Amino acid sequence: LGPPELSRLEAGDLAAFLPQPSAAAHKYTRGVAGVIAGSVQYPGAGLLAVAAASACGPGMVRYLGPEQVAAAIHVRNPEVVCSQNSPDEVRVQAWLAGPGIDGDQAQLDRAAAAIASGLPTVVDAAALALVQPATQAATNEHLILTPHAGELSALLARCGVLVSRAQIEASPLAAARQAAALLGAVVLLKGPTTIVAAPNGAVFTQANGTARLATAGSGDTLAGILAALLAMSAGPIDLARTAALAAALHGQLAQTDVEQPINAGLLAARIPAVWAALS
Ligand code: AMP
Ligand code: MG
Repeated sequence: LGPPELSRLEAGDLAAFLPQPSAAAHKYTRGVAGVIAGSVQYPGAGLLAVAAASACGPGMVRYLGPEQVAAAIHVRNPEVVCSQNSPDEVRVQAWLAGPGIDGDQAQLDRAAAAIASGLPTVVDAAALALVQPATQAATNEHLILTPHAGELSALLARCGVLVSRAQIEASPLAAARQAAALLGAVVLLKGPTTIVAAPNGAVFTQANGTARLATAGSGDTLAGILAALLAMSAGPIDLARTAALAAALHGQLAQTDVEQPINAGLLAARIPAVWAALS
């Protein structure tokens, strides 16, 4: 296998990936991102993921989850369309499933349905435990798994590979590649350097973030950005390349005012300006 491709985001990359919407566009042709995140216990993950997805400017963000979370979402993101439907009942171009749904069986059931839908799906946090090794009947080709080192350790253990969190942190590239090959899915391994590994051996590394991003809810923001990019991309999607682009955009959000602290709730509001600088 060759050396990993660096995916430093340059001005113009986003514009090339997502051309300006055509004059004849309407909201359903501009991409609908579906978000299954948050629960009564962890509502914030749902709020952060939809805020990030919506700030990327898709045609629509649909939120599936508890009514209490939907009510909170509507305070900050009135444009998001919320329901308690199952994923099979709504039309979207791409899903995000997993942030903040631990212990909420209805949300876990929705996440499982999204994973089974065959649509491009970002699988994060608790939903990672729902991913099964690929079979001929059910492939994982449409999935982007977004574990941090601890979650990847658990994921690999379910494939019969025992590697500790510390071992993964020491050799993230090897671990991400192994997981992508074993599971037949794109793996975006989060950490100081983000590694994106595709089942075919392609790898991107992205290190433009700063440790300011190591803060609760930051991963939910990344997941929301990625779901929006997947929904908005026209034509056949290169999942790994899209994941690398999302990681690059996310990393850039902590590049302004690096001397100042940042919390995840402030990241989504920075997306339009960072996007504009890169378009
Ligand atoms: P999560 O673990 O789900 O909260 O996601 C954390 C996010 O912050 C991911 O996007 C990581 O890549 C990023 N991150 C974590 N630690 C660092 C670090 N030391 N430097 C840069 N980015 C980081
Ligand atoms: Mg997380």
